[in-house]
Amino acid sequence: MSADRPNVLLVEDEPAQREVLAYNLQAEGFDVAKAGNGDDALMLVDETRPDVIILDWMLPGVSGIEICRRLKSNADTRKIPVIMLTARSEESDRVRGLETGADDYVIKPYSVVELMARVRTQLRRVRPASIGERLEFGDIVLDAETHRVTRGGRAVKLGPTEFRLLSTFMEKPGRVWSREHLLDRVWGRDIYVDTRTVDVHIGRLRKALCQFGGEDPVRTVRGAGYALG
Ligand code: CA
Repeated sequence: MSADRPNVLLVEDEPAQREVLAYNLQAEGFDVAKAGNGDDALMLVDETRPDVIILDWMLPGVSGIEICRRLKSNADTRKIPVIMLTARSEESDRVRGLETGADDYVIKPYSVVELMARVRTQLRRVRPASIGERLEFGDIVLDAETHRVTRGGRAVKLGPTEFRLLSTFMEKPGRVWSREHLLDRVWGRDIYVDTRTVDVHIGRLRKALCQFGGEDPVRTVRGAGYALG
């Protein structure tokens, strides 16, 4: 899994539909984890920490609704956007789906193009840099599509790791990131890197951002990690 590509968990028990959707999600540049039942889905949520979940309502075993309810009542997973897929269109079912805390709701048969747009909408909310948005913080501008960063209008050259660090920070200004969390997000979960490596790259990022003067935008939070602003 690549660290900066969005991670989508696709939960659908019909193999043909699952493969079509997985193909389209991969073509969008997303990493895709697939589950065909509720138990696998819950396991993969822990393993892959998806940015978005596409969740079929009718599943063998634990139902889509029950999975959604569990995810939304758990502090660790509550913020992961869930897009529910369902063949049912009755109003009462729709209400029940929304009551479980689903973030969006798509009725089968759906258009794949439409569903991809809904996925991007959710990603824009939780991981804007991952889908090529332009982010701004004070006088710093990061263009995720062209991988260009400027500060006060002057180009700032960053290495790939520093760029990913900055885009992670800029997606959630003010949020305090622990070193471990930054390792997961910037380096990827499968890679073993010493947490001190994070400090080294934060140092490089600070140096690059302050090369023309200006305040250091990266804050060290004692005992907790780093934050932007
Ligand atoms: Ca189904």
